[in-house]
Amino acid sequence: MATYVWDFTQGDKDHKDLLGGKGANLAEMTRLGLPVPPGFTITTEACRAYMRTGAVPRELAVEVTTALRLMEDRLGRRFGDPDDPLLVSVRSGAKFSMPGMMETVLDVGLNDVTVHGLARFSGDERFAWDSYRRLCQMFGRTVLGIDGALFADALDAAKAARGVTSDVDLDAAALRELVGQFQEIVRAHTGRPFPQDPREQLDLAIVAVLGSWNTERARLYRRKERIPDDLGTAVNVVPMVFGNLGPTSGTGVAFTRDPATGKTGNYGDYLANAQGEDVVAGIRNTLSLDDLAERDPAAYADLRRAMRQLETHYRDLCDIEFTIERGKLWMLQTRVGKRTAPAAFRIATQLVDEHLITLDEALARVTGAQLSQLLFPQFAVDADRTLLARGMAASPGAAVGAAVFDSAAAQERAARGEDVVLVRRETNPDDLGGMIAAVGVLTARGGKTSHAAVVARGMGRTCVVGAEAVDIDAVARSFRVDGHVVREGDTVAIDGSTGEVFLGSVPVEPSPVSRYLDEGLDSALAQAPDDDTRELVSAVDRLLTHADQVRRLHVHANADTADDAARARRLGAQGVGLCRTEHQFLGERRVLVERVVLAADDDARQSALDALLPLQRADFTALLEAMDGLPTTIRLLDPPLHEFLPDLTELSVRVALAHERGQDVPDDERLLAAVQRMHEANPMLGLRGVRLGLVVPGLFALQIRAICEAVVERRAAGGDPHAEIMVPLVGSVQELRLVKDEARAIMAEVGAARGVELDLPVGVMIELPRAALTADRIAEEAAFFSFGTNDLTQTTWGFSRDDVEGAFFAQYTDNGVLTVSPFETIDARGVGRLVDIAVAEGRATNPSLSIGVCGEHGGDPESIRFFHGAGLDYVSCSPFRVPVARLEAGRAAVEDATVDAR
Ligand code: ADP
Ligand code: MG
Ligand code: MG
Repeated sequence: MATYVWDFTQGDKDHKDLLGGKGANLAEMTRLGLPVPPGFTITTEACRAYMRTGAVPRELAVEVTTALRLMEDRLGRRFGDPDDPLLVSVRSGAKFSMPGMMETVLDVGLNDVTVHGLARFSGDERFAWDSYRRLCQMFGRTVLGIDGALFADALDAAKAARGVTSDVDLDAAALRELVGQFQEIVRAHTGRPFPQDPREQLDLAIVAVLGSWNTERARLYRRKERIPDDLGTAVNVVPMVFGNLGPTSGTGVAFTRDPATGKTGNYGDYLANAQGEDVVAGIRNTLSLDDLAERDPAAYADLRRAMRQLETHYRDLCDIEFTIERGKLWMLQTRVGKRTAPAAFRIATQLVDEHLITLDEALARVTGAQLSQLLFPQFAVDADRTLLARGMAASPGAAVGAAVFDSAAAQERAARGEDVVLVRRETNPDDLGGMIAAVGVLTARGGKTSHAAVVARGMGRTCVVGAEAVDIDAVARSFRVDGHVVREGDTVAIDGSTGEVFLGSVPVEPSPVSRYLDEGLDSALAQAPDDDTRELVSAVDRLLTHADQVRRLHVHANADTADDAARARRLGAQGVGLCRTEHQFLGERRVLVERVVLAADDDARQSALDALLPLQRADFTALLEAMDGLPTTIRLLDPPLHEFLPDLTELSVRVALAHERGQDVPDDERLLAAVQRMHEANPMLGLRGVRLGLVVPGLFALQIRAICEAVVERRAAGGDPHAEIMVPLVGSVQELRLVKDEARAIMAEVGAARGVELDLPVGVMIELPRAALTADRIAEEAAFFSFGTNDLTQTTWGFSRDDVEGAFFAQYTDNGVLTVSPFETIDARGVGRLVDIAVAEGRATNPSLSIGVCGEHGGDPESIRFFHGAGLDYVSCSPFRVPVARLEAGRAAVEDATVDAR
């Protein structure tokens, strides 16, 4: 078999690497006996050679000649024949579809001589000149690189001169004149006449298509879609069939099911007397397939048969390009069609019901990303709206509320029952209260993994980041976009699925699928407005239920409060994998933390801690009640203590002002001294996590005691609490030992006081490389491991997430150092290797070690597949992402089984 050219009869759909998607599927349709013009494909290998050397391989010309001759013999026509010329199209087609990115040239082979042959052979002079003007236009633009507007303008002028609006109304003479003008344009811009030699046209077109792989926009598109740059495109050379041969001809696109909604039945657009791109270009109004059925029942019947055959063969929604030439159907392209999220779920289950695919296959065909699209509240589709600005879609959903410019205002208005959208240049941990209070968050700066984006996603809060046109004046409490001023209290609407920012209110509705997850199937079905929605909700239910049956990974939730935990449980969480305790030190309790920090002696500190105890016990009791019967992993305090103290600058100003006024403020002065003392250059690598617990006496003891007492209380109330104590930022087994000893003592003490046995598991977060690398030793003491992949990523890469993402990740993705942020999807090669080491060595020491992950990655589809493969027991993610994680864990299991079966 030749290296660079494959005949359509040689390939099949499994050769997409070499033949591209279009070529592979054209070959497959040829195999199926469908009416495909007998063409050939120049392989991606030729493109790769072209990219390497800047020239096509020498053998290519010879292989093309052989294939072309075969084509000529099959059709009984010759390329360049003045009487009955064969024409071809030269079409790009890469492994992954890149719609609109690369080039195609139709009608190659026409020149000043063959155009007459085509007219005679077809008996249609207008058609021949129409085809020639198309060639001049496409070739001029695509191959010769001439501005397409020049041709389009000339075409418009020709129409205007004849008082017609559609190019179908231009007669042969007009088109002939137009060809003359087009050729003039070519001569003027290239200094050469329009190439008359058909073979030269073909060779130039092939090179142009190969070259279109590397246009700026194609590269940009690939970067966005994460398609590798080195795949190359194939080139398909296909005999022309003509949809522009009068009213019994035409061209169209068709879908075997509706790719927008997933409804069964054939869908498509048809345009009579038209060629190729006219349909998508929208230059004339298209007809429906039903109209085609009326116009040409026989051709339509052939099309339906072909569609059914394709769907049976591919066992999936197919999209199709076809042309009818004087009543004869030709198939020009097919592929498994792209579809929206609702269509994906509906079609997958329809195909199961039609016994075309198994439930396992159906599960593999829907993604967590699609499911999350179905979960977010939506702006009512047909509502009026005024677009203000565009940012990045950071956390999906639709939020409408009063614009507020700081956390305090957000909380204040929210407390009055108002919906607010928090608008900030960027957010930081101080904004957390405001973010929680707001229905949506809008920032002018920062990327998809900025603080705002990450925190908002974690909370399932709608968020748009990096809306650079939004110019915020925090002091004036307003922002400005193009002279438009939005003041505090003005209503704005943000769409976290598109990144759009609207002025004023846009109506919002909860999605039917989120209603299903919250309230159950029956309730969602009862409230569904129509059959389509009912089908969608049932489809999601069936696939999610199946995922639950097949998955090996358990899904836990990161939930800090009883409310969050209850919500997570409704969404299917099988435990809490991470309860962060920092919120228990915030708000009104801050003063108590300040007292702990400022305590002059042990007694003062202990009394401050004692005051915190009942509050924390109540928190834990409520959490354990919400999670009754399920594992509930509580992490001891992690952040540096000074995060709970006032801001250094703020405090300094306050003290300075007081002094100026001649006032003494001893409390503030002591606080300021403490804040200054505790200041760290790199707080994330400083006194936090287990270090804090070992250095500040009584702190972890307070938390452990509160947990133990909550457990005792729940048991007394007849509950079944399963609290687990998790120690953060451990790097050495000795750190864990020290905390464990303390925990044991407290368990014994609380147990003895209440007359019960307390033996709560104590485990660690693995979030430092050293913890992973000494997992064998740590496992001697730890009851469980939970990978804190956020910190593990920071410490493995030496990236400070808050600093680097906004600073240079964009550049790092541009220049290919990163394809995706390692904070979004686990870096399997680096961070993942530490995970593998820790799993293997941890289990070697302690085979019953339970292992999970509680970083952001626990909710990321690609990462979930990695964790499945790494042999973890569970992933833990924000409550909101639990359904997505359930689905992806199921898909990982199904994929795994398929690989095993091979
Ligand atoms: P794209 O990938 O942008 O769809 P295609 O290579 O499929 O580009 O071609 C563009 C248009 O030209 C399509 O509508 C296609 O059906 C049509 N076309 C391509 N080759 C031929 C041909 N040999 N005869 C008639 N129409 C063709
Ligand atoms: Mg196409
Ligand atoms: Mg951490």
